[in-house]
Parts: sequence; C-alpha cells; structure tokens
Amino acid sequence: MIEENVKKILQELPPGVELMAAAKARTPEEIMRAAQAGVEIVGENYVQEALAAFNVVGHRVKWHFIGHLQRNKVKKAVEIFDMIETVDSPELSKEIDKRCSQRKRIMPVLIEINSGREKQKFGIFPEDAEDFIKEISGLKNIKIEGFMTMGPMFGDPEDARPYFVETKKLFDRIKTLNLPGLEMKYLSMGMTNSYQVAIEEGANIVRIGTKIFGPRG
Ligand SMILES: *Cc1c(COP(=O)(O)O)cnc(C)c1O
Repeated sequence: MIEENVKKILQELPPGVELMAAAKARTPEEIMRAAQAGVEIVGENYVQEALAAFNVVGHRVKWHFIGHLQRNKVKKAVEIFDMIETVDSPELSKEIDKRCSQRKRIMPVLIEINSGREKQKFGIFPEDAEDFIKEISGLKNIKIEGFMTMGPMFGDPEDARPYFVETKKLFDRIKTLNLPGLEMKYLSMGMTNSYQVAIEEGANIVRIGTKIFGPRG
C-alpha cells in the first residue's frame, strides 16, 4: 500500500516539486518502506520520534523538522535534521544558531508563516515576516531558504487557496530583499487534502502523511 501510494504521488507531481512524507505517529518500518519506494524527504513533528526513525532509516533520506520546536530540544534536533521548517521566533533562531555554531554546521531553515493569522497556531504573521527576517538574517549558522505554511484546515481545499496565494506573494517579495544568509528557494505548503491546490499556487515541497501511510490511528 505505502509503496503504491508513494509511486502514484511521485508520478503525479510536476517537475521541481518535492514530496515529503509527513511521518508523525508512523513506525520506523513504515518510514523505511516509503523511503524504499522513492521518498527522499521525511518530515517529523517530534524530536524523540525522529531519533527512533533516524536510527533505522538513517541518511538514505533528508530529515525535515515540521513540528513546534522547543528550545530545550534544539541541541538534539541539530544532530539529525537537514532542515528546520518551523522557525517562528528570534529566541528559537538564536538557539539553533548557537547549537549549530558549536557543531560547526549551518542549518537551512524555513520561516513558518501563520497565513491564517490563527491565534492558536504558531508562525509569524505575514505582515511581520520582513522585520523578523531582517532581525535573524545576520545569524551566521542558519540559512533562511524559504517559507512553510499550514493555513487553516478546511474540508474543501479550494478554501485554502487564498492563504497559499498570500504566502507565495510574500515569498516573491522577500526574495527581492538582498539580505545576508537569505536565499528564498523553498515554499513548503499543502498536505493530503490541499497539496494539488498548493502546487498550483507555487508550492515546491508538499508534506503528505495520510495519502502515503493511510489514516492515523
Ligand atoms: C501531519 C502533518 C502533515 C500531513 O498531514 P496529512 O493530512 O496526513 O497529509 C503536514 N504538515 C504538518 C506540519 C503536519 O503536522
């Protein structure tokens, strides 16, 4: 099942769009099957869960962090992740920078945009993104490579489109700022129910869980 699902999605994605398997609550064995079927990026929401999966699957895939990263988990996170997609505060940025400096590495990060301006969700409001980026772009051990957004959850993916459109507009505008440590390459948007719409609106990373692994238990 997992193998067929991955192959079907990969065939369907236009060139230049990367598939991430959003792996929360999946076993290392399920993630391994997805990797063997052609998944090259795995997204993890929890550092502890990621460590268990990483010990089995290893460097055969790239590991992206897509959950809410607590500062006391950063030290571990920078040991395994290839990208942190959910940077949403100066404090978190500075902690990632500090821990990466200790390990002599540079962490590619995406800024999480709260495109729905939902109070209960994490992320930077679109209108605050420019100031935030200017504030953290001087940090030498992080490299800002784009945006990630969730957007509000809807039954009808068409309702998500305006939030993807707004995030893409912001992405294009920030791209024109010539800031150190900033190279806007990735726009991570869209999940199982909304990824087709997200791709139409410019996503080049889609984060898919249910459609690969089936419903979560
Ligand atoms: C769970 C999750 C996904 C994938 O959700 P599905 O609806 O199962 O495809 C994508 N992004 C994030 C941040 C998630 O937590």
